[in-house]
Amino acid sequence: MIQFLSVTKVYDSGIYALQELNFEVQDGEFVFIVGPSGSGKTTIVKLLIREELPSSGQIYFDDDDITRYNTKKVYKLRRKIGVIFQDFKLINELTAYENIAFVMEAAGQKDKEIKENVPYLLDIVGLSNRMDAFPCQLSGGEKQRVAIARAMANNPKLLIADEPTGNLDPDTSWDIAQILYKINNWGTTVLMSTHGSDIVNSMHKRVVRLKSGVMIRDDFKGSYEEIDDYSMRIIKSQEDDSKEKITLYNSIPKGESDSKNTSSKTQPKSKKLTQGTGKISFSTKSKRAQPQVQIKEKPAKTDIETKIINLVKD
Ligand code: ADP
Ligand code: MG
Repeated sequence: MIQFLSVTKVYDSGIYALQELNFEVQDGEFVFIVGPSGSGKTTIVKLLIREELPSSGQIYFDDDDITRYNTKKVYKLRRKIGVIFQDFKLINELTAYENIAFVMEAAGQKDKEIKENVPYLLDIVGLSNRMDAFPCQLSGGEKQRVAIARAMANNPKLLIADEPTGNLDPDTSWDIAQILYKINNWGTTVLMSTHGSDIVNSMHKRVVRLKSGVMIRDDFKGSYEEIDDYSMRIIKSQEDDSKEKITLYNSIPKGESDSKNTSSKTQPKSKKLTQGTGKISFSTKSKRAQPQVQIKEKPAKTDIETKIINLVKD
């Protein structure tokens, strides 16, 4: 899906934000981009959404060199990419519902689709009960949930999260990471930049590590270098029975709704989410637990569920 070929970005200041960067991301991957502040993470995001052009090198999105795109093509490209930021970037004058409806309208979606899909998107992020709240009435975690729902509103192929947990406490950060994990499991490719190691160590996903604009590592099984014994035991125990679960997971039809507001600290710490023929449970009992899937009898799909399955799929 994404290819960076010898990408170098030098800003006007003469700073090399990225140097000869080469990496590929396949459809459906979850990739962490980690590195200290100033290492070039946001520059990667800006290059992908064509907010910046590289000084040299090529960037492919779906086998097309996006560095050659004209304005019209850039606009189309941005429709395929949802982005969330550390500072949420919600419109303060609009409610949660309106923040999402706004981008759907801008993309030409019909009123009927908007009315049906906005509540569903808010449900996915566990915020259906705060539809009419303005950003100033929401906590940081809730604002980021709205931002995720908005980023998913036009059913993007790629979701980029640029330090989405940078302003959040560890529990809330974990909830946000779990939502991104869930979205990725539905088939959306996710690129998440962060400089926190906790979530990265816990999620067992690919990690691209930057330092001063240079890629210094590309680990396909996540970074365990700083992992503690407790986390390692959990990961090991999950690996032991993961094969069967992963096969099952892949066979589950897409489409799911999380009807609970998972941000609330008063919620039980175990979150059960139904999806198609399986049951996914996201346990936050341990911050290092991984989503798991168990067989459960198939629930009947409501109209809105069927709609969202189509929305979340292509
Ligand atoms: P990160 O997101 O990892 O903190 P950035 O990609 O934002 O890193 O920045 C990489 C480097 O490029 C930093 O040294 C930063 O100061 C510099 N930089 C970023 N944006 C600009 C800009 N618009 N003009 C000049 N220098 C910039
Ligand atoms: Mg940044």
